[in-house]
Amino acid sequence: MVEPAKYYENSGPGKIRCLLCPHFCTIKKDDYGKCRVRKNEKDVLVTDVYGQAKGLSFDPIEKKPLYHFFPGTQILSLGTPGCNMQCFFCQNWNMSQSGIDKSGNKQVLPAEILTISKSEPKNLGIAFTYSEPTIFYEYMYDTAILFKENGLKTCMISNGFINEKPLLDLIPLIDAFNIDLKAFTNSFYKKYTKSSLKPVLNSLEIIRTKKRHLELSFLVIPGLNDNMDSFKEMLCWISDKSGKETVLHISRYFPKYKSNIPATSNQKLEELFDIAKEKLDYVYIGNYSGEKGQNTICSNCNSIQISRNYYNTMVYLSVDGKCSKCGYKIMNMM
Ligand code: SF4
Repeated sequence: MVEPAKYYENSGPGKIRCLLCPHFCTIKKDDYGKCRVRKNEKDVLVTDVYGQAKGLSFDPIEKKPLYHFFPGTQILSLGTPGCNMQCFFCQNWNMSQSGIDKSGNKQVLPAEILTISKSEPKNLGIAFTYSEPTIFYEYMYDTAILFKENGLKTCMISNGFINEKPLLDLIPLIDAFNIDLKAFTNSFYKKYTKSSLKPVLNSLEIIRTKKRHLELSFLVIPGLNDNMDSFKEMLCWISDKSGKETVLHISRYFPKYKSNIPATSNQKLEELFDIAKEKLDYVYIGNYSGEKGQNTICSNCNSIQISRNYYNTMVYLSVDGKCSKCGYKIMNMM
């Protein structure tokens, strides 16, 4: 389904300029932007992925990952093909880098998604995820409105590479974000993702200022972004700008897409975990078989408040997100 897109301007004869993300693609007639799903059709910007679900399934909220947002619940998760980054190590490249190939897509409009979500009585809401939700902005926006009108929760799992205006317009409709912080140097972003760091940091500041729930993910790629000085600089920035209670997920990388760098070792993940714990209260390790960084431990009294075994979760917190032992506030549960 081809739908008119938001956020663009005419930019000379036969050209339009997309204003959705910091690439600001200038797109000629019948051509696509860098995300390969937004197109200049007769000088109108259209989105090729409205209603094109490549992934639509109920997942544990922990899988997003969101560990401090309604732990132990299920959430309907939606994604379409396309991404506005081109990470050579992409862990989900089949979906993100497939462009306009619609094979295997399920055609499903926002109202149908809401109906599907209600088929699971314990479903929390919707997570826009799997690929990059920014590039299916209009589909996400319309779906989020319906979910909010029906009293359900909405989450965006994103690379954070979005312009300020579209993000500010979206924020009232999104309850929780998980944003990838792929490294803390612009050179990494430029070389390995074909984007830049500053707009991502700007998005994080906006989300925090608007007081939305925010968790961060850091995928550790051996030799590329695991430099200790840079990692420590990133931790200081997170702690200063977002607070030491900001949740950080340190995630294991596997060789995928164009990368044949070996997978991250458990030792490296644990080393980074120990360093991160010096700056932040809640640090977790994802996609790993060890025991560190799985449970939520009260930062005040050190008691286990959520235990996790893969996606099996036992929650001991009080209903308002306080430690069941000492009463310390760990998360919002509203
Ligand atoms: S959303 Fe797509 S078309 Fe628009 S600026 Fe970003 S990459 Fe280019």
